[in-house]
Amino acid sequence: MTPILSAQNLHFVYGEKTPYEKHAVTDISFSVMPGEIVGIIGHTGSGKSTLMQLLNGLLKPHSGTVIVDGQNIWQDPKAIRQYRFQVGLVFQYPEYQLFDETVEKDIGFGPKNMGLSEEEIRKRVLRAAEMVEFPPHLLPKSPFDLSGGEKRRAAIAGVIAMEPKVLILDEPTAGLDPKGRQTILDMIRAYNQKTGAAVLFVSHNMEDVAALSQRVLVLSRGKEVLFGTPKEVFSQPDVLQQMSLDVPIATRILDALSQKGYALQKGIYTIPDAAKEIVRFMKEGDRHAQ
Ligand code: ADP
Repeated sequence: MTPILSAQNLHFVYGEKTPYEKHAVTDISFSVMPGEIVGIIGHTGSGKSTLMQLLNGLLKPHSGTVIVDGQNIWQDPKAIRQYRFQVGLVFQYPEYQLFDETVEKDIGFGPKNMGLSEEEIRKRVLRAAEMVEFPPHLLPKSPFDLSGGEKRRAAIAGVIAMEPKVLILDEPTAGLDPKGRQTILDMIRAYNQKTGAAVLFVSHNMEDVAALSQRVLVLSRGKEVLFGTPKEVFSQPDVLQQMSLDVPIATRILDALSQKGYALQKGIYTIPDAAKEIVRFMKEGDRHAQ
């Protein structure tokens, strides 16, 4: 299968040849398959935001290539706008960017920029609202009358309405309560499953990364440190700890129990799998207590 998105030896420098020169992204290469969900983790300043902006053409790499659906996105710089529709980017706290007089106009802003007909815009707004479980009766309201969670969903719907082949989200659950968090995670999964779009998302929450991702990209100081399945990445706690990153709580609990002599399986990283393993262990009663 051909990747839907490929980064090849990407390099980006802020303030080149000034005293503030910063190599924010250094030699990053990875590929994302159609329909895949990839979690991106890394300490603050590790280059996650810069990488996301490189992937949708908001920033131009100093060297290296971004390939979307088989095309080098900078082949013709005049055509770069179309890639921004194909690789939709949801910034951190996207609700701060709501600005229009109604939610409907806000969600329709992207499709309008794509030059679609009024009828198609309306269809896409309704589809996107449904996808993020945004109540249709709130569409004529001002975005400023919405609750925090509703604003976040409306803002994400604005990107989804462009029906990107790749959806990139920068910390989509930041600042939300557990219920709001879960709604956004369910929504990301639903978008991925219903449309077959690939999803990349940045998160500091290892539980979210473990629950959603098929593969995980770990960045440190602008460099790619690991890229693999959650199992491959979270089975290297020492490497993660060097970057002040943690493994999911489920992995930590099972490791702690294993160290106490309980013969539990290794490489478990989600709460449901940990619960299953603990139940299995208790039923089989093969306890090897110290
Ligand atoms: P992250 O999203 O992981 O926090 P960023 O991509 O925002 O990382 O930043 C990577 C590095 O680039 C950091 O050292 C940051 O200070 C620097 N940086 C980010 N944006 C700019 C900018 N506009 N000008 C100069 N340096 C920047």
